[in-house]
Amino acid sequence: MSDEAAVLDRVPKQLLVGGEWIDGAEGTLPVEDPATEETLVEVADASPDDAMKALDAAVETQKEWQSTPPRERGEILRRAWEEITERADELALLMTLEMGKSLAESKAEITYGSEFLRWFAEEAVRIDGRYATAPNGQGRLLTMKQPVGPCLLITPWNFPLAMGTRKIGPAVAAGCTMVIKPAKQTPLSMLALAEILSNAGLPPGVLNVVTSSSSGSVMEPLIKDPRLRKLSFTGSTPVGQKLMEQAAERLLRVSMELGGNAPFIVFDDADLDDVVDGAMIAKMRNIGEACTAANRFHVADSLADEFAERLAERMKALKLGRGTEEGVDIGPLIDADQRSKVQELVDDAVGKGAQCVVGGSPREGPGYFYEPTVLASVPDDANLLKEEIFGPVAPVKAFDSEEEAIAAANDTEYGLVAYVYTRDVKRALRVSEALEYGMVGLNQGMVSNPAAPFGGIKASGFGREGGYEGIEEYLETKYVAINL
Ligand code: NAP
Repeated sequence: MSDEAAVLDRVPKQLLVGGEWIDGAEGTLPVEDPATEETLVEVADASPDDAMKALDAAVETQKEWQSTPPRERGEILRRAWEEITERADELALLMTLEMGKSLAESKAEITYGSEFLRWFAEEAVRIDGRYATAPNGQGRLLTMKQPVGPCLLITPWNFPLAMGTRKIGPAVAAGCTMVIKPAKQTPLSMLALAEILSNAGLPPGVLNVVTSSSSGSVMEPLIKDPRLRKLSFTGSTPVGQKLMEQAAERLLRVSMELGGNAPFIVFDDADLDDVVDGAMIAKMRNIGEACTAANRFHVADSLADEFAERLAERMKALKLGRGTEEGVDIGPLIDADQRSKVQELVDDAVGKGAQCVVGGSPREGPGYFYEPTVLASVPDDANLLKEEIFGPVAPVKAFDSEEEAIAAANDTEYGLVAYVYTRDVKRALRVSEALEYGMVGLNQGMVSNPAAPFGGIKASGFGREGGYEGIEEYLETKYVAINL
């Protein structure tokens, strides 16, 4: 059996409900390889009833699970991290098959994603409260942290493992049970993770996995069920808004990790070698299909042309192909819709006067490949300055002053991450303060780190994943007023 066939054979393909792997009442749904457009495997397709059974299991398990010693919860996460680390090559292959990115990129996600389990293994034993004397001296204030209860976790296709571990890690550490629904395009990494967590000793019913081709009708009854206590969603802003409307009906607690439109600002004192390296990471990580992807490059007028040319050189040198092949840097986009959307945005910009320095077209199929593209002199009214591109396209725009750069960077409804390159420390801090974003990459093209609070403001959502803040999303604060 080939390595590909072996990993596909090994991965669970059913729903995980109350510790049992079961079939979906709607039959199965196909998982496609975006590099070949062929079906890799079929996985269970859940009905609303199946999803409700998953919530029943989470609800039934909650009480017992939350009384498990924190050390035990932490050690389960630690053992899962160890197994993922040992099986990194095999899990990277699985991820590349379903999502498309190169094996090196999948391996990087396996490391990044599994680190959330290690980080929250360490946080599980640090959940504490406080005891204080009331200001008037007449009473005592006791504050305790308790798990929020059963959670619904919904994740996107672009980081099939890490978007799950960022939620599962803190939920397990806090003592919450959960139902997780991965995106229909990439359910395999999550199913593999669920098996690993079971191997690590996670009790039946704590983590339930629902895969479905009809996310809307299968998730809505859960969101509206009064037994559910928390929804954590990562995905697009329009879907996030829809879910918030559903959650508002009974004031369900929510965390929203939504879309982005990251500016990458290069000041005239920046080191251009560093800038181009950082730009390649910020733009091309995950084939540009990242919420943190640099969506527009605002470059000081004196450097803009040279930057565009040097970036184009680097982009041109990238090898496109199926992510499993040796030497491939850039895999396909996730599907035909995504590729058409990227093409429309490029056509719109070029039609309005942008100059295509490199790329600008899809690559012959099979597979949803799109050429790495650099567009220079992009006009203000180009749609790709306003919309999330989610593809390997870098629009470059020149600016004249710091004020103009900040105003352009903030001119968006999104607020996830911004990147700034400058060697002037005062400017670095001044600009970081002025940027209306949840995160800033200062002289670096990547901000993601399990030990840091990841998250956005404005239409990029609210709530934080990772860092000390990440576990707070899964804890309630209870205050006890004590009369001595
Ligand atoms: P999406 O279309 O919003 O889907 C995200 C998840 O929501 C998927 O599991 C999807 O399931 C599910 N979903 C879709 N409609 C739903 C509904 N009506 N009810 C319940 N669930 C529903 O986003 P995507 O295309 O997968 O991911 C790309 C987006 O995610 C981008 O906007 C990106 O910026 C954002 N993102 C944000 C972060 C962050 O941390 N801020 C991280 C990664 C990605 P199905 O696919 O199975 O329908």
